[in-house]
Amino acid sequence: MFQGIFVDAIESNKKFAELMSSSGRQGLQVTFQKSTDLINLAKQVLASQPDFVALDYHLGDKNLPYTATPLAQLLRDTALSTTDKDCPIILVSHQNDLKAFFENVTAHRLFDRCFTKEDLDNASTHREQMLSLVKGYKQLIKNWNKQERWSVFLALTEPEKLEVAYQAIRELDKLKAPHQVAQDILRYVIDRRGILLDTDNVLAELGVAKTGKDVDKMLNILRQDKVMYTGVFSEGWTRWWQHRLADWGKALCDHSLGNMTAQERVSCLNKKLNLTLSPAKSRWKNDTDTLLWYVCDSCHQPIEDEFTVMAYDPLPYTFVHRKYICWKCVETGEYQKQGLKIDDGEELFVEKIQNGEIRSGT
Ligand SMILES: [Zn+2]
Repeated sequence: MFQGIFVDAIESNKKFAELMSSSGRQGLQVTFQKSTDLINLAKQVLASQPDFVALDYHLGDKNLPYTATPLAQLLRDTALSTTDKDCPIILVSHQNDLKAFFENVTAHRLFDRCFTKEDLDNASTHREQMLSLVKGYKQLIKNWNKQERWSVFLALTEPEKLEVAYQAIRELDKLKAPHQVAQDILRYVIDRRGILLDTDNVLAELGVAKTGKDVDKMLNILRQDKVMYTGVFSEGWTRWWQHRLADWGKALCDHSLGNMTAQERVSCLNKKLNLTLSPAKSRWKNDTDTLLWYVCDSCHQPIEDEFTVMAYDPLPYTFVHRKYICWKCVETGEYQKQGLKIDDGEELFVEKIQNGEIRSGT
Protein backbone atom coordinates (compact mmCIF):
# COMPACT_ATOMS: atom_id res chain seq x y z
CA MET A 1 0.00 0.00 0.00
CA PHE A 2 1.22 3.52 -0.80
CA GLN A 3 1.66 6.01 2.03
CA GLY A 4 0.63 9.64 1.77
CA ILE A 5 0.68 12.61 4.10
CA PHE A 6 -1.77 15.51 4.36
CA VAL A 7 -0.54 18.66 6.08
CA ASP A 8 -3.00 21.24 7.40
CA ALA A 9 -2.81 23.85 10.17
CA ILE A 10 -6.25 22.95 11.52
CA GLU A 11 -6.72 19.69 13.39
CA SER A 12 -10.40 19.36 12.45
CA ASN A 13 -9.42 19.09 8.78
CA LYS A 14 -8.07 15.63 9.56
CA LYS A 15 -11.14 14.11 7.88
CA PHE A 16 -9.78 15.07 4.45
CA ALA A 17 -6.91 12.58 4.84
CA GLU A 18 -9.54 9.84 4.96
CA LEU A 19 -11.32 11.27 1.90
CA MET A 20 -8.06 11.09 -0.10
CA SER A 21 -7.29 7.48 0.88
CA SER A 22 -8.23 4.47 -1.19
CA SER A 23 -8.32 0.86 -0.05
CA GLY A 24 -6.63 -2.28 -1.38
CA ARG A 25 -3.11 -3.61 -1.62
CA GLN A 26 -2.35 -1.05 -4.33
CA GLY A 27 -4.33 1.64 -2.52
CA LEU A 28 -3.22 4.88 -0.88
CA GLN A 29 -3.29 5.51 2.85
CA VAL A 30 -3.10 9.19 3.69
CA THR A 31 -2.24 10.22 7.25
CA PHE A 32 -2.82 13.63 8.76
CA GLN A 33 0.02 15.85 9.90
CA LYS A 34 -0.66 19.13 11.73
CA SER A 35 1.70 21.78 10.48
CA THR A 36 4.43 23.18 12.69
CA ASP A 37 7.20 25.62 11.83
CA LEU A 38 8.54 25.25 8.30
CA ILE A 39 11.93 23.65 9.03
CA ASN A 40 10.63 21.02 11.43
CA LEU A 41 7.72 20.23 9.18
CA ALA A 42 10.01 19.78 6.17
CA LYS A 43 12.22 17.44 8.20
CA GLN A 44 9.21 15.39 9.29
CA VAL A 45 7.81 15.09 5.78
CA LEU A 46 11.19 14.12 4.29
CA ALA A 47 11.88 11.60 7.04
CA SER A 48 8.61 9.80 6.38
CA GLN A 49 9.57 9.32 2.68
CA PRO A 50 5.98 9.63 1.52
CA ASP A 51 4.62 8.40 -1.84
CA PHE A 52 2.24 11.37 -1.92
CA VAL A 53 2.07 14.80 -0.27
CA ALA A 54 -1.09 16.93 0.00
CA LEU A 55 -0.82 20.44 1.44
CA ASP A 56 -3.36 23.00 2.51
CA TYR A 57 -2.49 26.45 1.15
CA HIS A 58 -2.25 28.10 4.58
CA LEU A 59 0.26 26.43 6.89
CA GLY A 60 2.05 27.43 10.09
CA ASP A 61 0.21 28.90 13.05
CA LYS A 62 -1.03 32.29 14.30
CA ASN A 63 2.49 33.33 15.31
CA LEU A 64 4.20 32.37 12.10
CA PRO A 65 1.84 31.67 9.21
CA TYR A 66 3.26 30.65 5.84
CA THR A 67 1.87 29.13 2.67
CA ALA A 68 2.42 25.71 1.11
CA THR A 69 4.80 27.26 -1.44
CA PRO A 70 8.10 27.25 0.54
CA LEU A 71 7.50 23.70 1.78
CA ALA A 72 6.73 22.45 -1.73
CA GLN A 73 9.79 24.27 -3.06
CA LEU A 74 11.98 22.62 -0.47
CA LEU A 75 10.61 19.17 -1.27
CA ARG A 76 11.04 19.74 -5.00
CA ASP A 77 14.63 20.93 -4.55
CA THR A 78 15.44 17.83 -2.51
CA ALA A 79 13.97 15.60 -5.23
CA LEU A 80 16.47 16.96 -7.76
CA SER A 81 19.22 15.04 -6.00
CA THR A 82 17.17 12.01 -4.94
CA THR A 83 14.99 11.35 -7.96
CA ASP A 84 13.95 7.92 -6.68
CA LYS A 85 12.16 9.61 -3.74
CA ASP A 86 10.29 12.12 -5.91
CA CYS A 87 6.52 12.07 -5.36
CA PRO A 88 3.39 14.01 -6.31
CA ILE A 89 2.65 17.16 -4.34
CA ILE A 90 -0.88 18.47 -4.55
CA LEU A 91 -2.74 21.37 -3.07
CA VAL A 92 -5.97 20.74 -1.18
CA SER A 93 -7.65 23.91 0.00
CA HIS A 94 -10.92 25.78 0.23
CA GLN A 95 -12.08 27.46 -2.96
CA ASN A 96 -11.26 30.95 -1.62
CA ASP A 97 -7.71 29.97 -0.62
CA LEU A 98 -7.09 28.53 -4.07
CA LYS A 99 -7.90 31.93 -5.55
CA ALA A 100 -4.95 33.33 -3.60
CA PHE A 101 -2.83 30.49 -4.91
CA PHE A 102 -3.77 31.18 -8.54
CA GLU A 103 -2.70 34.79 -8.08
CA ASN A 104 0.69 33.55 -6.85
CA VAL A 105 2.16 32.78 -10.26
CA THR A 106 5.52 31.44 -9.07
CA ALA A 107 3.83 28.69 -7.07
CA HIS A 108 2.14 27.06 -10.05
CA ARG A 109 5.02 24.88 -11.14
CA LEU A 110 5.33 23.33 -7.70
CA PHE A 111 2.08 21.39 -7.57
CA ASP A 112 0.88 18.58 -9.78
CA ARG A 113 -2.78 19.33 -9.21
CA CYS A 114 -5.12 21.45 -7.07
CA PHE A 115 -8.28 20.09 -5.46
CA THR A 116 -10.78 22.05 -3.44
CA LYS A 117 -11.96 20.65 -0.12
CA GLU A 118 -15.47 21.04 -1.54
CA ASP A 119 -14.46 18.64 -4.39
CA LEU A 120 -13.31 16.07 -1.86
CA ASP A 121 -16.59 16.30 0.01
CA ASN A 122 -18.80 15.98 -3.06
CA ALA A 123 -17.16 13.70 -5.63
CA SER A 124 -15.10 10.55 -5.79
CA THR A 125 -13.05 10.89 -9.03
CA HIS A 126 -10.33 12.67 -7.03
CA ARG A 127 -9.44 9.37 -5.31
CA GLU A 128 -8.65 7.68 -8.63
CA GLN A 129 -6.72 10.73 -9.76
CA MET A 130 -4.62 10.93 -6.59
CA LEU A 131 -3.79 7.23 -6.73
CA SER A 132 -2.99 7.61 -10.43
CA LEU A 133 -0.52 10.39 -9.61
CA VAL A 134 1.23 8.07 -7.14
CA LYS A 135 1.38 5.18 -9.61
CA GLY A 136 2.47 7.49 -12.43
CA TYR A 137 5.39 8.79 -10.38
CA LYS A 138 6.42 5.20 -9.57
CA GLN A 139 6.45 4.44 -13.30
CA LEU A 140 8.54 7.53 -14.02
CA ILE A 141 11.06 6.57 -11.31
CA LYS A 142 11.20 2.90 -12.35
CA ASN A 143 11.94 3.75 -15.98
CA TRP A 144 14.05 6.85 -15.30
CA ASN A 145 17.28 5.42 -16.72
CA LYS A 146 15.79 3.71 -19.79
CA GLN A 147 16.69 4.70 -23.34
CA GLU A 148 14.05 6.97 -24.90
CA ARG A 149 12.20 6.91 -21.63
CA TRP A 150 9.50 9.28 -22.95
CA SER A 151 8.14 6.45 -25.10
CA VAL A 152 8.07 4.10 -22.10
CA PHE A 153 6.24 6.72 -20.00
CA LEU A 154 3.63 7.10 -22.73
CA ALA A 155 3.41 3.31 -23.31
CA LEU A 156 4.00 3.60 -27.05
CA THR A 157 4.79 0.66 -29.28
CA GLU A 158 8.07 0.71 -31.18
CA PRO A 159 6.58 1.34 -34.66
CA GLU A 160 4.38 4.24 -33.56
CA LYS A 161 7.09 6.22 -31.75
CA LEU A 162 7.57 8.27 -34.93
CA GLU A 163 3.99 9.57 -34.73
CA VAL A 164 4.63 11.16 -31.35
CA ALA A 165 8.34 12.00 -31.47
CA TYR A 166 7.88 15.78 -31.47
CA GLN A 167 10.97 17.59 -30.35
CA ALA A 168 9.25 18.86 -27.19
CA ILE A 169 8.25 15.29 -26.31
CA ARG A 170 11.77 13.96 -26.89
CA GLU A 171 13.11 16.79 -24.75
CA LEU A 172 11.25 15.31 -21.77
CA ASP A 173 14.26 12.98 -21.49
CA LYS A 174 16.49 15.94 -20.67
CA LEU A 175 14.53 17.03 -17.60
CA LYS A 176 16.20 16.48 -14.26
CA ALA A 177 13.51 15.02 -12.04
CA PRO A 178 10.31 12.97 -12.37
CA HIS A 179 8.16 15.87 -11.10
CA GLN A 180 9.28 18.00 -14.05
CA VAL A 181 8.25 15.29 -16.50
CA ALA A 182 5.02 14.64 -14.61
CA GLN A 183 3.98 18.26 -14.86
CA ASP A 184 4.67 18.54 -18.57
CA ILE A 185 2.75 15.34 -19.27
CA LEU A 186 -0.18 16.46 -17.13
CA ARG A 187 -0.36 19.99 -18.49
CA TYR A 188 0.41 19.50 -22.14
CA VAL A 189 -0.39 15.87 -22.96
CA ILE A 190 -3.25 14.91 -20.61
CA ASP A 191 -4.99 18.28 -20.21
CA ARG A 192 -4.80 19.45 -23.81
CA ARG A 193 -6.22 18.23 -27.09
CA GLY A 194 -3.27 17.21 -29.25
CA ILE A 195 -1.60 13.84 -29.33
CA LEU A 196 -4.27 12.63 -26.90
CA LEU A 197 -8.00 13.31 -26.91
CA ASP A 198 -10.56 13.30 -24.14
CA THR A 199 -13.74 11.28 -24.65
CA ASP A 200 -15.84 14.27 -25.83
CA ASN A 201 -13.33 14.93 -28.61
CA VAL A 202 -13.23 11.24 -29.57
CA LEU A 203 -17.01 11.23 -29.97
CA ALA A 204 -16.84 14.45 -32.02
CA GLU A 205 -14.26 12.87 -34.34
CA LEU A 206 -16.49 9.83 -34.71
CA GLY A 207 -19.49 12.12 -35.32
CA VAL A 208 -21.35 10.38 -32.49
CA ALA A 209 -23.90 12.14 -30.25
CA LYS A 210 -22.83 11.88 -26.63
CA THR A 211 -26.38 11.44 -25.37
CA GLY A 212 -27.45 8.79 -27.91
CA LYS A 213 -27.61 5.00 -27.56
CA ASP A 214 -24.67 2.59 -27.52
CA VAL A 215 -22.01 5.19 -26.66
CA ASP A 216 -20.55 2.95 -23.93
CA LYS A 217 -20.48 0.00 -26.32
CA MET A 218 -18.64 2.16 -28.85
CA LEU A 219 -16.06 3.21 -26.26
CA ASN A 220 -15.61 -0.41 -25.17
CA ILE A 221 -14.80 -1.38 -28.74
CA LEU A 222 -12.19 1.38 -28.89
CA ARG A 223 -10.78 0.12 -25.60
CA GLN A 224 -10.53 -3.45 -26.91
CA ASP A 225 -8.93 -2.18 -30.10
CA LYS A 226 -6.27 -0.41 -27.99
CA VAL A 227 -7.09 3.15 -29.03
CA MET A 228 -6.98 4.10 -25.38
CA TYR A 229 -3.97 5.74 -23.77
CA THR A 230 -2.38 3.47 -21.14
CA GLY A 231 0.72 5.45 -20.19
CA VAL A 232 1.42 7.36 -16.98
CA PHE A 233 -1.61 8.91 -15.25
CA SER A 234 -4.05 6.99 -17.47
CA GLU A 235 -5.81 5.47 -14.43
CA GLY A 236 -6.92 8.93 -13.31
CA TRP A 237 -7.64 10.55 -16.66
CA THR A 238 -9.29 8.68 -19.56
CA ARG A 239 -7.58 9.66 -22.79
CA TRP A 240 -7.31 8.26 -26.32
CA TRP A 241 -4.53 8.40 -28.89
CA GLN A 242 -5.35 10.74 -31.77
CA HIS A 243 -3.22 8.83 -34.29
CA ARG A 244 -4.62 5.44 -33.28
CA LEU A 245 -8.19 6.75 -33.59
CA ALA A 246 -7.50 8.15 -37.08
CA ASP A 247 -5.95 4.84 -38.23
CA TRP A 248 -8.76 2.84 -36.65
CA GLY A 249 -11.47 4.92 -38.39
CA LYS A 250 -9.77 4.75 -41.75
CA ALA A 251 -9.32 0.97 -41.53
CA LEU A 252 -12.98 0.49 -40.58
CA CYS A 253 -14.66 2.88 -43.02
CA ASP A 254 -12.09 2.87 -45.89
CA HIS A 255 -12.00 6.68 -45.74
CA SER A 256 -10.48 9.20 -43.44
CA LEU A 257 -13.30 10.09 -41.02
CA GLY A 258 -12.42 13.78 -41.34
CA ASN A 259 -13.72 13.75 -44.92
CA MET A 260 -17.09 12.28 -43.95
CA THR A 261 -20.06 14.08 -42.39
CA ALA A 262 -21.21 13.08 -38.90
CA GLN A 263 -24.12 11.24 -40.48
CA GLU A 264 -21.84 9.30 -42.83
CA ARG A 265 -19.41 8.40 -40.04
CA VAL A 266 -22.20 7.11 -37.82
CA SER A 267 -23.86 5.12 -40.58
CA CYS A 268 -20.50 3.40 -41.22
CA LEU A 269 -19.95 2.71 -37.50
CA ASN A 270 -23.49 1.37 -37.06
CA LYS A 271 -23.20 -0.89 -40.09
CA LYS A 272 -19.72 -2.26 -39.39
CA LEU A 273 -20.07 -2.60 -35.63
CA ASN A 274 -23.75 -3.45 -35.44
CA LEU A 275 -24.60 -0.49 -33.20
CA THR A 276 -27.42 2.08 -33.08
CA LEU A 277 -25.43 5.26 -32.47
CA SER A 278 -26.95 8.66 -33.26
CA PRO A 279 -25.07 11.28 -35.25
CA ALA A 280 -23.90 14.40 -33.42
CA LYS A 281 -25.30 17.77 -34.38
CA SER A 282 -23.35 20.91 -35.07
CA ARG A 283 -24.21 23.48 -32.44
CA TRP A 284 -24.02 26.24 -35.03
CA LYS A 285 -25.87 24.66 -37.97
CA ASN A 286 -28.10 22.40 -35.87
CA ASP A 287 -27.42 19.73 -38.50
CA THR A 288 -25.83 16.26 -38.62
CA ASP A 289 -24.89 16.39 -42.31
CA THR A 290 -21.72 18.30 -41.61
CA LEU A 291 -17.97 17.89 -41.03
CA LEU A 292 -17.70 17.94 -37.24
CA TRP A 293 -14.21 17.72 -35.90
CA TYR A 294 -13.68 18.66 -32.28
CA VAL A 295 -15.55 20.10 -29.33
CA CYS A 296 -15.64 23.79 -28.49
CA ASP A 297 -13.39 24.59 -25.53
CA SER A 298 -16.17 26.65 -23.99
CA CYS A 299 -19.36 24.55 -24.33
CA HIS A 300 -17.78 21.14 -25.10
CA GLN A 301 -20.22 20.55 -27.95
CA PRO A 302 -19.09 19.25 -31.36
CA ILE A 303 -18.38 21.88 -33.97
CA GLU A 304 -16.97 22.32 -37.47
CA ASP A 305 -13.59 24.00 -37.72
CA GLU A 306 -15.05 26.72 -39.97
CA PHE A 307 -17.52 27.89 -37.32
CA THR A 308 -15.05 28.66 -34.57
CA VAL A 309 -12.72 31.45 -33.54
CA MET A 310 -9.36 30.98 -31.87
CA ALA A 311 -9.09 31.59 -28.17
CA TYR A 312 -6.19 33.62 -26.85
CA ASP A 313 -3.84 30.83 -25.90
CA PRO A 314 -0.08 31.32 -25.93
CA LEU A 315 1.36 27.86 -26.44
CA PRO A 316 4.76 26.56 -25.52
CA TYR A 317 4.58 23.38 -27.61
CA THR A 318 3.64 22.67 -31.21
CA PHE A 319 2.02 19.31 -30.49
CA VAL A 320 -0.70 20.96 -28.43
CA HIS A 321 -3.76 22.10 -30.37
CA ARG A 322 -5.00 25.59 -29.83
CA LYS A 323 -8.22 26.24 -27.97
CA TYR A 324 -11.25 27.13 -30.09
CA ILE A 325 -14.53 28.79 -29.24
CA CYS A 326 -17.59 28.01 -31.36
CA TRP A 327 -19.55 30.84 -32.94
CA LYS A 328 -22.56 30.01 -30.78
CA CYS A 329 -20.55 30.65 -27.62
CA VAL A 330 -19.40 33.93 -29.17
CA GLU A 331 -23.03 34.82 -29.91
CA THR A 332 -24.18 34.05 -26.36
CA GLY A 333 -21.01 35.31 -24.67
CA GLU A 334 -20.89 32.14 -22.53
CA TYR A 335 -17.17 31.56 -23.24
CA GLN A 336 -16.35 34.35 -20.80
CA LYS A 337 -17.74 32.32 -17.91
CA GLN A 338 -15.28 29.56 -18.83
CA GLY A 339 -12.39 31.99 -18.38
CA LEU A 340 -11.61 32.05 -22.13
CA LYS A 341 -10.63 35.08 -24.17
CA ILE A 342 -10.92 35.46 -27.94
CA ASP A 343 -7.71 35.98 -29.88
CA ASP A 344 -7.37 39.57 -31.13
CA GLY A 345 -6.96 38.31 -34.71
CA GLU A 346 -10.59 37.14 -34.77
CA GLU A 347 -12.14 40.59 -34.24
CA LEU A 348 -13.80 40.71 -37.64
CA PHE A 349 -15.79 37.49 -37.12
CA VAL A 350 -16.68 38.44 -33.57
CA GLU A 351 -18.12 41.75 -34.70
CA LYS A 352 -20.21 40.09 -37.40
CA ILE A 353 -21.57 37.46 -35.02
CA GLN A 354 -22.32 39.98 -32.31
CA ASN A 355 -24.11 42.45 -34.60
CA GLY A 356 -26.18 39.65 -36.17
CA GLU A 357 -24.57 39.74 -39.63
CA ILE A 358 -23.72 36.05 -39.17
CA ARG A 359 -26.50 34.01 -37.62
CA SER A 360 -26.66 30.43 -36.37
CA GLY A 361 -29.12 27.82 -37.62
CA THR A 362 -30.67 27.36 -34.19
ZN1 LIG B 1 -19.20 26.56 -27.77
